[in-house]
Amino acid sequence: MADNKIIDGKLVAETMKKEIAAEVAAMLDKGLSAPHLAAVLVGDDGASITYVNSKEKACRSVGMTSSVYRLPEKSTEEDVLKIVDFLNNDDEIDGYIVQLPLPSHINENKIIQSIKPTKDVDGFTLHNIGLMQIGEPCYLPATPFGILELLKRSNVKTEGKHVVVMGRSNIVGTPVSVMLSRKGADATVTICHSKTQNLKEITRQADILIVAIGQPEFVKADMVKDGAVVVDVGIHRIKDNSEKGYHIVGDVDYKDVYEKVSKITPVPGGVGPMTIVSLLHNTLLAAKKNRK
Ligand code: NDP
Repeated sequence: MADNKIIDGKLVAETMKKEIAAEVAAMLDKGLSAPHLAAVLVGDDGASITYVNSKEKACRSVGMTSSVYRLPEKSTEEDVLKIVDFLNNDDEIDGYIVQLPLPSHINENKIIQSIKPTKDVDGFTLHNIGLMQIGEPCYLPATPFGILELLKRSNVKTEGKHVVVMGRSNIVGTPVSVMLSRKGADATVTICHSKTQNLKEITRQADILIVAIGQPEFVKADMVKDGAVVVDVGIHRIKDNSEKGYHIVGDVDYKDVYEKVSKITPVPGGVGPMTIVSLLHNTLLAAKKNRK
């Protein structure tokens, strides 16, 4: 029997992929080219390679074209800027991402801000951040968009709810707080971070608790209100003696909070699959604009 407490990100992401695939097929039927997403991968960070591989696989699964520009670890800022310039001007590429983190000798912000905003499907340029802030159409960052879409499609209403967001990073905590407090989502939002005092007292007031702090199984039952909805963004590989050698946990101690919550996203299978499908969503938007 289906567990009604679980917010099934994998299932919702599959549904969204089918919708996107149908739109891509309709474009092809009209004689238009498939949306094309590119990724720039600098160096050989294992997690980054895994993320880029799964983005490529997801593109193919919905009929989109994908390409990866791989640069060695020792590449200079100039080398990366040259690729960015090429991608900005190549009409065949609808959108692209620069996989983070970049090697430490490269100024990440300089690279990101060099991406043409109309191709910035990660929504990281100042232009898109500004548009998000004032509620204008833009490319919304993938994980926050994925969280809002997941809540909407799982019938979790945000209007008038007190949402507590743990974490204020530029890619998750801050944008999800902005998006939830805007008209349409209409939540009342509190943001917590590492300097927040009386953290437990605040998180216990949350109707919806969104956790993006990068601390394995940090959130325990005593931090959660009875009947709260919990969204766990964290992803951590924990070494163990299993065949795989590890298992995945989130920022929330799932077993500890399970009895208390009304709904919860599992890790894996919650927010993670939504992040990738949101990137496909943005790439489709870019392609539609380019083919008008
Ligand atoms: P960052 O490390 O950039 O930010 C963490 C934030 O959490 C900071 O604002 C920090 O506060 C705050 N924080 C850290 N410890 C505490 C604490 N004990 N109490 C309250 N706040 C705390 O992380 P990201 O936002 O990039 O990622 C968060 C998690 O989400 C990671 O596990 C990451 O792997 C995962 N992730 C998952 C994605 C997905 O698709 N599922 C996508 C992106 C990230 P301060 O600002 O004061 O330092």
